[in-house]
Amino acid sequence: MRCSLRKFLKISICLFISVISIVSYFHDNFEKSFIAQRQSFGQKQHGVLGPVDHQDSDIELLSRKQRNAMSVETITDDEKEKRKNVHPSLKSKNERTELSDIFIAVKTTKKYHDRRLKLLINTWIGQAREETYIFTDDNDKLDLPDGHLINTNCSNTHYRIALSCKMAVEYDFFMLTGKRWFCHLDDDTYLNVPGLVKLLQSYNHTDDWYLGRPSLRHPIEVMKRSNPEQKIAFWFATGGAGFCISRSLALKMMPHASGGRFMTTSDMIRLPDDCTIGFIINNLLQKELTIIDRFHSHLEALWFVRNLQDQLTFSYSDTNIVHIDGFPKKQDPSRLYSIHCMLFPTADICDTLRKGITVA
Ligand code: UDP
Ligand code: MN
Repeated sequence: MRCSLRKFLKISICLFISVISIVSYFHDNFEKSFIAQRQSFGQKQHGVLGPVDHQDSDIELLSRKQRNAMSVETITDDEKEKRKNVHPSLKSKNERTELSDIFIAVKTTKKYHDRRLKLLINTWIGQAREETYIFTDDNDKLDLPDGHLINTNCSNTHYRIALSCKMAVEYDFFMLTGKRWFCHLDDDTYLNVPGLVKLLQSYNHTDDWYLGRPSLRHPIEVMKRSNPEQKIAFWFATGGAGFCISRSLALKMMPHASGGRFMTTSDMIRLPDDCTIGFIINNLLQKELTIIDRFHSHLEALWFVRNLQDQLTFSYSDTNIVHIDGFPKKQDPSRLYSIHCMLFPTADICDTLRKGITVA
């Protein structure tokens, strides 16, 4: 009898524990799945619809969750592409640099829209339409994507203040894009677009890089305005050959360049935009210029440049052009069309040119 009572007690305790375990297991799982459901809803909600309303009933929650999922799905590929371009910095830093990670700024002035800019639009800008922004001093209707012709409202002169004013706007604009590289070009410069992408793939945008080509064989020397006794010397990449700055370095330039401070810095040395960039980087920040000798401005003897297919930029002036057998000089005085059609013979514009038609 004593034995059976003990048995009975044992069985009751076992049964009680089992029932408690089963109830608590189901309760836990239900709660976990409910919390998970709310969390996942909250995360998506954050990006698409707005803050989570914790007062919602479960039914409402479910229906909003579905709508939420649909609104993610219904974003068109076009939209997704646009968002990616505005925030390319969201890309992991270990991913390879692509054209879309580069911001290309071209400085120009209204009087050169027809004379110089159209040539660029007809050639290399066509290969980097979304990445290229034109910084000018007046409005115009040009074959560019919306918002890519930027009227800086700077004055339309070749003086230091006007040029530095445009560079200041270029820099601030770049900082807002979040892109990996800031590259600057003048409106008389041809850019080998795939060549530039390849070059930048070999440098890390998270390190400090100032890539370009000096026009002088020595550092430029200037007297500081605040202290004329004091001479300062620094290297700068000539703007006419093009230069590129990594985002990491551009961020370090902010105290001397952002929000209009570029103009103040330019005033300190009384030198134009490209010299001011060199002053900030090489003198104030003590970072080196890395010389890329495949960049070319018309401040060097362009007729000496060989292996044209390996070069990254070219420029021209009335008396200094690249030597290339290409279209007749009358049809292509700058030689930039000939360079473009040597590099990309199947480009549409080359067919037109081969027919002997003169284009802008
Ligand atoms: N530029 C300008 N305003 C002017 C004259 C020139 O913004 O009044 C720009 C021009 O569009 C070019 C750069 O400054 O991008 C250099 O001009 P240019 O090639 O005429 O002279 P350089 O300095 O190369 O001798
Ligand atoms: Mn020039």
